[in-house]
Amino acid sequence: MPDYDFNKIEKKWSEKWLKDKTYEPLDFARGKPDLDKAKKPFYNLMMFPYPSAEGLHVGNMYAFTGADIYGRKKRMEGKDVFEPIGLDGFGIHSENYALKIGKHPKKLAQETEKRFYEQLKMIGNGFSWDERLETYDPEYYKWTQWIFVQMFKRGLAYRKKASVNWCAQCLTVLADEQVLAGECERCGTKVIKKELEQWFFKITDYAERLLNDIEKIDWSKRIKIAQKNWIGKSEGALIKFPLKAKSLQLKVETEVFTTRPDTLFGATYLVLSPEHPWLTQEILNSKSEILNKSEIRNYIEKSKAKTEEERIAERGDSPSHKASAEQGKTGVELKGIKAINPATKEEIPIWIADYVLAGYGTGAIMAVPAHDQRDFEFAQKFGLEVREVIRPVYGEPHEGAEFRRTVTAIVQRKSDGKFLVVKWNKFNWVSLPIGGIDEGETAEETAVREVFEETGHRVRPVKKLGGEVTMHFFAENKNVWRHRLDQPVLLELVDENQTERSIEEKEKLEPVWMSGEELIRSITHEYNVIGVKRFLGFELAYQGRGELVNSGVFDGMDSEKAKREITKFVGGEIKSQYHLRDWLISRQRYWGPPIPMIFCPACANSAFVATSAKEAASAGKKNAGWQPVPEKDLPVLLPDIKNFRPTGTDKSPLATVEEFVKAKCPKCGGEARRETDVSDTFLDSAWYFFRYIDHENKQEAFSRKLAKRWLPVDMYIGGAEHAVLHLLYTRFLTKVFYDWGLIDFDEPFKKFRAHGLLIKDGAKMSKSKGNVVNPDDYINKFGADTLRMYLMFLGPFDEGGDFRDESIAGAVRFLNRVWKLKEKITPSSDGVPGRMTGQNPKLEIILNQSIKKIGDDIEKLHYNTAISQLMILLSSFENGCDEKSFKIFLKLLAPFAPFLVEELWHKLGESESIHTSKWPEYDESKIKEEMKTIIVQINGKVREKFEISSKDSDEEIKIQTLNLPKIKEFLGGKNPQKIIVARNRLVNIVLAK
Ligand SMILES: [Zn+2]
Ligand SMILES: [Zn+2]
Repeated sequence: MPDYDFNKIEKKWSEKWLKDKTYEPLDFARGKPDLDKAKKPFYNLMMFPYPSAEGLHVGNMYAFTGADIYGRKKRMEGKDVFEPIGLDGFGIHSENYALKIGKHPKKLAQETEKRFYEQLKMIGNGFSWDERLETYDPEYYKWTQWIFVQMFKRGLAYRKKASVNWCAQCLTVLADEQVLAGECERCGTKVIKKELEQWFFKITDYAERLLNDIEKIDWSKRIKIAQKNWIGKSEGALIKFPLKAKSLQLKVETEVFTTRPDTLFGATYLVLSPEHPWLTQEILNSKSEILNKSEIRNYIEKSKAKTEEERIAERGDSPSHKASAEQGKTGVELKGIKAINPATKEEIPIWIADYVLAGYGTGAIMAVPAHDQRDFEFAQKFGLEVREVIRPVYGEPHEGAEFRRTVTAIVQRKSDGKFLVVKWNKFNWVSLPIGGIDEGETAEETAVREVFEETGHRVRPVKKLGGEVTMHFFAENKNVWRHRLDQPVLLELVDENQTERSIEEKEKLEPVWMSGEELIRSITHEYNVIGVKRFLGFELAYQGRGELVNSGVFDGMDSEKAKREITKFVGGEIKSQYHLRDWLISRQRYWGPPIPMIFCPACANSAFVATSAKEAASAGKKNAGWQPVPEKDLPVLLPDIKNFRPTGTDKSPLATVEEFVKAKCPKCGGEARRETDVSDTFLDSAWYFFRYIDHENKQEAFSRKLAKRWLPVDMYIGGAEHAVLHLLYTRFLTKVFYDWGLIDFDEPFKKFRAHGLLIKDGAKMSKSKGNVVNPDDYINKFGADTLRMYLMFLGPFDEGGDFRDESIAGAVRFLNRVWKLKEKITPSSDGVPGRMTGQNPKLEIILNQSIKKIGDDIEKLHYNTAISQLMILLSSFENGCDEKSFKIFLKLLAPFAPFLVEELWHKLGESESIHTSKWPEYDESKIKEEMKTIIVQINGKVREKFEISSKDSDEEIKIQTLNLPKIKEFLGGKNPQKIIVARNRLVNIVLAK
């Protein structure tokens, strides 16, 4: 327990700060923005919490404290800091909790709001309380709906029937981003697919900008990488394959999309998905040249019965599927028509197979079995040609390297499947038998000879395993650079006998039998592993980079370079694909903003009348019959209904509320019905930081003028788990607002830092384990300042830490020492802080060093090391401290323990808040490294002296001493019994006599 009355102090200052509006930026002068007042706006944002009635989690407090420390320093540096807070209270999270405890979400929201804000007032953050907002407030969601309407009007919101993610626990659809490893990000239930018609936002239109602009923002690296991967751009090429029937060249071509145009010379067949449009037409065409139409029709029918997942599973993308993948792959050859490989000009067969999905690229692929695992399995099953065009390369070529063609012999024993391996006695190496091909010898002959010489086993060749591998390496046994072209050959034992080997061979190496895994583990030379891995069947098709072979004029070219070259050569087009899909916005739930759309059957029908059948189909896709709610009618209020339970059908509970559903068509005035789904809660949070700056605006979502002044956000701190959710959606909406001319910047957050996660006693916090830390308990017992100090000292802020009750004592002790120090303060004699006659000559240096270090550390969010430095500084005050130095110390401590420092500051006679005082500056000349002469004694006798830096540790001084030539000579190789470093004065070496 702290010695000072933290309860009284913390309460007193909370109230005073609120009354004085200490943390309100001047711009927002109570609803009347005055843009001249805030001179240096600094928007310090933290992710607003989703509230639940259990109250604030210590993880929230950890994140908020870390964000607040940064903002407090900025305020003391003279910035007008805006640090708002609010509640992300709409959405599945809050609604699920309401369902669990059997309360209406609206009622629950009122309770949690009260409780959350009470708690948030206790933690000591400099929040701008006047600007708070809650996403379930109609004044807020009116504008969320307004955004939806604008999205619709500008063609960025559309309805589509699609196979979507469905959580059977939350009873709603989810966006792709909200499915983590196949599970619902909210409740962890395995997500299934459903065919439903839903609302989407066209985030894919922004894929390229979302990707490119990552470069211009200062964000945590891991978040940037996660977004890049999620957007998932793959560059590839569109390549046309002409078709040919008998001798007749058809006027059609099939276009394929491939990410590996460098392998075009190895494309030995073409595969069309059963839904391929040309195929669909051709099957109906009575004059078609296809010879086996009925067979194909049968196949198409069968594959229609499969779900997309079944088809993906059969593709065997994951290694665990590999065994069954070959078995599972199905297909049928299209007879009568061939394709022409545009690179080789050879005729190649066309296959129909459902491992090719219609939705990917063009619905047709060129199959390169030598370099694509799926194609390889398909080719194995149907006996199609495998042609290698990429040769793996290990290492970089070296000038003057010795060139050799070699053979790697792979002998597998039938009885146990083990491989014949040689152990080199002299070098302690392990490899497969490898040998140089002699003049006039075939690779197979070399292999047979080498195996016999080295191991005494008689073998016969089975086959070559793939093509050669290029290796550039340094052979340390021969002391030369090598350029090796290695050909692997599979062999089998003639019999189990082993012939006696020559004495020379016996001395050199020992044959042993190993399993494949064992072999990979034991092989001593990395360049031997690439080949072995491939040949042992760990990787059947070589999918990596390398140099081109069997590719005409491109032979020898690096495969990366060849991608563009070959595309150009055949007149193809370089094109990009993305992993990112459109944002699914509909939710079949209650607790969210109703999607502000109205469907009118009459208008929908008239849309069909005007156009042809084909156009009608596409008009259907383009939202026929859907009208946005006129802006003057917003918000569409969420009706108060008793049964808000999700229905489990594809309809929200709102669909049962007749007065809600019935509406007039805004276009024709006829009978229409309202959309009854609500929008995704991630839409609520995708724009809240725009509303904070202008939360009372009744005319617009936010004013352009205020946005220009306060946005983009200067610093944003939050959880890394939002990398491809919230943090992607906010970037998307910001770009959309930019395009609509609402703002003149297109990235929401200049700087974003992800904080780490807290665990408790080494384990993840969870309700089931009963180890969730409630910050209130600790604040009541120790005070908010102590808890803040403790949390920030746990470890680097971006890594989190382990919360252990017993360790809080350290923070308590530290703040008590600060509190007690006030008794010992002496007036500063000559006005220079830290300079006190005859007491501690180093104090001035430590003080200046601390100002620099703590400032730098806060800038980097290295709060734990900043606190360490505060501790060092406090210790240096033990022999006395002048008032000026103490005030500097309080300022440095202010961001961490805001209540205690404010109290002490005022006790020293100050009348303004310490938190709006100026952050201390340091004197560069005072923190320079000091050099000092140190004396070295051996058994008490001075033997040498040398210069050390004041920053050297005792250990460093010891090492330097023992390396002095004169001292080495004195020691004469003997180990000293003891070395004593008397800090900054002398080193005494004790030597046994
Ligand atoms: Zn769920
Ligand atoms: Zn109408």
